[in-house]
Amino acid sequence: MRKLAAMKLAPFEYSCPTSVKEAVALLAAHGGDAKPLAGGQSLMPMLAFRVAAPALVVDLRKIEELRQVVISEQGVVLGAMVRWRDILGDPRLRTAHPLLVAAIGHVAHYQIRNRGTVGGSIAHADPAAEMPGIAVTCEAQIAVTGKAGARTIAAADFFRGPLMTALEPDEMITAIRLPRWPERRRFGFAEFARRQGDFAIAGAALFYDQDGGGKAGNAHVGVIGAADRPLRLVPAETVLNGKMIDQETVALAGAAAAAAVDPPDDIHASGAYRRALVGVMVERALADAASLSA
Ligand SMILES: Cc1cc2nc3c(=O)[nH]c(=O)nc-3n(C[C@H](O)[C@H](O)[C@H](O)COP(=O)(O)OP(=O)(O)OC[C@H]3O[C@@H](n4cnc5c(N)ncnc54)[C@H](O)[C@@H]3O)c2cc1C
Repeated sequence: MRKLAAMKLAPFEYSCPTSVKEAVALLAAHGGDAKPLAGGQSLMPMLAFRVAAPALVVDLRKIEELRQVVISEQGVVLGAMVRWRDILGDPRLRTAHPLLVAAIGHVAHYQIRNRGTVGGSIAHADPAAEMPGIAVTCEAQIAVTGKAGARTIAAADFFRGPLMTALEPDEMITAIRLPRWPERRRFGFAEFARRQGDFAIAGAALFYDQDGGGKAGNAHVGVIGAADRPLRLVPAETVLNGKMIDQETVALAGAAAAAAVDPPDDIHASGAYRRALVGVMVERALADAASLSA
């Protein structure tokens, strides 16, 4: 009997540049047959299963400029190689962007949070992942660089479907820019997963600002796990804008959110269950934002 060779990763070339310029040159030289490597949390399994088989892997770990967290009057800039543990361990972010911190607290487990990165998650574009959900909810801008130079893509235009984005093959993400977070902004994040650290079956991220009389304005409601990409739910935002956030408004917003999504059935949940869950997650996040008891 012929002994089959164990099939694991397909062979590839490896490179570890120290600058974005060098990394982009390597990606461009391979005409779409090269992949950046961030923390490897998704890329390594994809290589092992041969879902991806690039000729070249460009390791980004030595590019210092991608590791920075910059907080200014304009908002928060997260370098692409900022890891989940960097976000959770940075006390400045608890005031500079508390919704981001609340959401990232739900990402995976300790080991994955040690290596998983902001840029890797955004590029991987899992529809249930927290970071893409925060990017869409908060109107983030995704900074990318390719052989044609640098450009910025609005998060709303970036995600095209599961594992599909607006990135060109020679482009890499350099940073994610989140707009300034006002001090008194109300926010909430809720998700439901089978076990702590699993990807969410569905989740909601939201915020609003209050006028002098306490009415909500500038409401932003986002959901994950409800479609082929993270979504912002304008019908739920319309319910909130101009209202006092009380139990009745919370219920109306939850119903509007559930009515605005049409998730498919899959192995984890039926579409009907997920739709109901979206409503409940929006209600929970909103009750939290308004400090109402559930
Ligand atoms: C068991 C497990 C549980 C998880 N649970 C969750 C969870 O609950 N929530 C959640 O949000 N995530 C979860 N994740 C995902 C994880 O947190 C990472 O976000 C994800 O795996 C990306 O990993 P990475 O940053 O190491 O990127 P990599 O795996 O290195 O790369 C992922 C993809 O992005 C590309 N890429 C990486 N960096 C860039 C860049 N700068 N520019 C362009 N392309 C780039 C790569 O080429 C590859 O295609 C889980 C992962 C595992 C393995």
